[in-house]
Amino acid sequence: MVTTKPHAALLASPGMGHLIPMVELGKRLLTHHGFHVTLFVVTTDSSTTTQLLHQTSNLNSLNIVQVPPIDVSHKLPPNPPLATRITLTMMESIPFLRSSILSMNNPPPSSLIVDMFGLVAFPMARDLAMLTYVFFATSAWFSAVTLYFPFMDKKTMESHAQNHEPLLVPGCEPLRFEDTLEPFLFPGGDVYEGYLEAAKAIVTADGILINTWQDLEPAATKAVREHGSLGRFVYPVGPLVRTVERKQEHEVLRWLDRQPGESVIYLSFGSGGTLSEEQMREVAFGLELSQQRFVWVVRPPNEDASGSFFDVASGGDVAVGYLPEGFVKRTENVGFVVPMWAPQAEILGHPATGGFVTHCGWNSVLESVLNGVPMVAWPLYAEQLMNAFMLSGELGVAVRVASEEGGVVRREQVAELVRRVMVGSEGGAMRKKVKEVKVSGEKALSSRGWLCEMSKNCELHLQAKVSAA
Ligand code: UDP
Repeated sequence: MVTTKPHAALLASPGMGHLIPMVELGKRLLTHHGFHVTLFVVTTDSSTTTQLLHQTSNLNSLNIVQVPPIDVSHKLPPNPPLATRITLTMMESIPFLRSSILSMNNPPPSSLIVDMFGLVAFPMARDLAMLTYVFFATSAWFSAVTLYFPFMDKKTMESHAQNHEPLLVPGCEPLRFEDTLEPFLFPGGDVYEGYLEAAKAIVTADGILINTWQDLEPAATKAVREHGSLGRFVYPVGPLVRTVERKQEHEVLRWLDRQPGESVIYLSFGSGGTLSEEQMREVAFGLELSQQRFVWVVRPPNEDASGSFFDVASGGDVAVGYLPEGFVKRTENVGFVVPMWAPQAEILGHPATGGFVTHCGWNSVLESVLNGVPMVAWPLYAEQLMNAFMLSGELGVAVRVASEEGGVVRREQVAELVRRVMVGSEGGAMRKKVKEVKVSGEKALSSRGWLCEMSKNCELHLQAKVSAA
């Protein structure tokens, strides 16, 4: 017999920052509303993905299908933008996706939930009579800017790109040129056109899910509803972050066990972020100058700020010879260096962690907030700059790195920012503020109104589909 319990197919694009929130969304649909969930994972680095999925709790009933690794390198121009490479990979995954969905019965997936890069799968979903949802694993502010993009007039875009005027988006904080997104830098260019196409596809969706909550971004959430003309089908579903159980016995956690409460600053630039060699040296000397305890996730230096996006290897014994000579030895009593990949959710949840130097990826931001940890906002690329603006401005839970001549943040600034968060009254005020935001996030998570509504829509759709068959 065919059941009417809805079956949602989720499609995660490459990158841990895309996969992690999709896993959490799947878990929520499954455990709080009895959806069947199949999660399709598109990856170029299956070892880290497998490791992550292995560490994540409550996956039991989530049907996870890893799309066979896709190599698009032969189809790309030299030095392609990150977005181009991800989008092409997603396109290549569609035949596999389609045949997998068609092979599923009792019940077949009746809705498809994708992230920004999975929009290319919408025509296939419609062809299979599925409902379509977009999941923004980002802020409502970024979502609102994206949805408004097709309606921006040419003149406004030009004065933003050429005269560095702020970009005005109704109902939202203006987007300063300093924090702008890559597509807005070159109106008419490839990245611009790709983003425009994505924005147009989003408004055709049956619903939009955003990993935020109403009280965090009331104005921007309202703006998404208005710009998307989707009204009530905009669901702020957050804050969804990885829930952790201390089942992992990573050495860094044992080290943290031996440190005083809220005494350690944690530094990480996300799943793909990398620093130049010179910048790494300045960070290392800055940490020494700050005289604070630290945990630092290090990757081999790279001039490209997203240098590890596609090949973040699982941790282990990668030599850290690229750090300044003697640094590890000099700091052995106060610091812990983790090569490549750290158990971030566990570190941020550890009582010894008192601050976070972050690249402001949205998952990192939410994980920090939900653990009550104030931040040093050090954005590298994409919407991270907008996130940094929000954290250090209206929310008051972070201090932000100021750009310096030559693009390298010097050790004195690193030390000063770390000290501002970890010691003194400013740090105390941010800590208090972030704990208030945490409480509001936890409250939002306990409400399930959106799940009921979305589930109802999916059930109705499925019933209609079953009767039509
Ligand atoms: N992460 C981790 N260990 C690391 C680096 C990253 O567990 O060493 C996780 C982090 O907890 C977060 C995700 O990877 O959940 C990164 O997502 P985010 O949105 O912060 O940044 P992105 O990687 O997308 O730039």
